[in-house]
Amino acid sequence: MLEKLKEIVQASEDEIIALRRHFHSHPEIAWEELETTKKVAEVLTELGCTIVKAGFGGTECGLVADLKGGKPGKIVALRADMDALPLSEENDLPYKSQNLAAMHACGHDSHTAMLLGAAKALGEIRDEIPGTVRFLFQPAEESGLKSGAKAMVEEGALEGVDAVAGLHCWSAAPTGTVLCRSGPIMAAADGWYVTLRGKGGHGSTPELAIDPTITAANIILNLQTIVGREISAREPLVISTGALKGGNTAFNIIPDTVEINGTVRSFSPAVQARAEEAIRRVIAGACAMGRCDYALDYRRFIPGTINDHEVTMVAKEVCEKIVGEENVKETELIMGSEDFSYFEQKVPGTYFFIGTGNPEKGTDGPHHHPKFNVDDDALAGGAAMLAGFAWEWLSRK
Ligand SMILES: [Zn+2]
Ligand SMILES: [Zn+2]
Repeated sequence: MLEKLKEIVQASEDEIIALRRHFHSHPEIAWEELETTKKVAEVLTELGCTIVKAGFGGTECGLVADLKGGKPGKIVALRADMDALPLSEENDLPYKSQNLAAMHACGHDSHTAMLLGAAKALGEIRDEIPGTVRFLFQPAEESGLKSGAKAMVEEGALEGVDAVAGLHCWSAAPTGTVLCRSGPIMAAADGWYVTLRGKGGHGSTPELAIDPTITAANIILNLQTIVGREISAREPLVISTGALKGGNTAFNIIPDTVEINGTVRSFSPAVQARAEEAIRRVIAGACAMGRCDYALDYRRFIPGTINDHEVTMVAKEVCEKIVGEENVKETELIMGSEDFSYFEQKVPGTYFFIGTGNPEKGTDGPHHHPKFNVDDDALAGGAAMLAGFAWEWLSRK
């Protein structure tokens, strides 16, 4: 059946590419994916899928649809995220973004198209499917503050689901390859936001002021000692400063306040807890030393993405049959984060990467860059992997 699915997908490759280019031209950022959701609903309805729920998080963005097979069985879910980024595209392409304020710079346009391609292929073998395939078209993967996956899980998108799979295009890996991993694959992402309050004054008389810039400097430097001195070198941990704001343009004014923020990336919950405790301690200590008041907001945004072993092994086998055993490798741990983790907290799942890097086409540049692009040659393979996984999982259960 995998061979058959591969053939069906291959035959509709042009359609999948056209869909991806359509979404690329019409990008919508997190929680604004209204037209994208409508287009997805239109295609799925034509394919004979049942729309289970449209609209999540108090919006009309996002969609869950079921394809009920001809035989009884479990429900397996496949997920694609649909949001673009608030970036202005710098590529000169016939299907370039028509919205100056948004761009598919992470390739979620390709995810949406690949999942529609998978739905089409599965639709053609529908009578033979033992169970139901649920399609999760997710809004807002890129929104740190309000995760689309979390909203979908809370609003019942995984009700009755036995297993879930999702993929991400990956420009750092060559087209025709797949990277997967059992266990942790992507990091948990926390954010910290601190406002330091001193007492402003004239730059020439610091003794009359309380200078929050010194405390800010102490905090920034000492946070790095948490990684180097408090956590085992065997445990991955990143603490980064993202913003540092204080004063205005004058060279002779000590500012009243300084704001700093940053991110923390970790895999082990114990390391995550230890890092948060240490960051709170370093900030409190530096402020006591520098006589500053402070307000700290520490947030755990996205949990770590942890792949289930059994689900991952089934997906890996399917990928090997699509691109060849030699082209499926284990990925290193990725310090980026991914809200697919919320689905995997609820049901066993797997998340993997498909290579879309092709230096000749310039698709090997970094994600989230105004010149990012996806190699369309990878799309049919990705669609076949998603469809193939759903088939394999259901037919083995
Ligand atoms: Zn991204
Ligand atoms: Zn992404």
